Amino acid sequence: MILLMGIAGSGKGTQGKMLADQHGLHLISMGDVLRMYVTGKQRQRMLAGGLLEDQEIIAIVDKLFESISNGTEILIDGFPRTIAQAEWLLNQAKAGRFKVDLALHLVASRRAVKERLLKRARIDDTEAAIEARFDQYEQSTEPLIDWLSRHNVKVVNIDAEQTVETVNQQLVKALEDYKKA
Ligand code: AMP
Repeated sequence: MILLMGIAGSGKGTQGKMLADQHGLHLISMGDVLRMYVTGKQRQRMLAGGLLEDQEIIAIVDKLFESISNGTEILIDGFPRTIAQAEWLLNQAKAGRFKVDLALHLVASRRAVKERLLKRARIDDTEAAIEARFDQYEQSTEPLIDWLSRHNVKVVNIDAEQTVETVNQQLVKALEDYKKA
């Protein structure tokens, strides 16, 4: 399993699709899954840029993994986003359910990605929701990058402010280097 991480607007969606197509990976986009299923108050919370509860996310991911046959290589965008989610994931890996191979981290500044998000016009791409997602990322997800390294997951940082093609080439290279090693 390969984890794709990065601040909102860093290109996870676009890059995830490209990489999955190029390498025949099973792509899970947590944001897309949640936009499909989540209703009521939780949906409001999501649209305001807040994270959903760890237990709820874990229950959804657990079911998704059950539906994927053993040995399929998964690329997951947007999970884990908190240390609690990562602890669950690594415990599942320890229990032999799958391997967590690599984390690809798309690195971009708030300034650079804000422009992209405001152009995208998704309903949670308002100024306030964008700021909330940036704050969430800094508080909950950024500390995860170090945490994963300390737990023996190889993290590769990629400068996501480059062109789509360059970022894609670097992701492909990171994946191929990892497989060779
Ligand atoms: P994304 O499309 O990745 O930007 O995700 C959109 C929204 O879905 C986020 O702002 C969160 O509200 C929610 N979400 C996605 N992944 C997670 C996760 N792993 N944990 C909690 N909330 C999530």
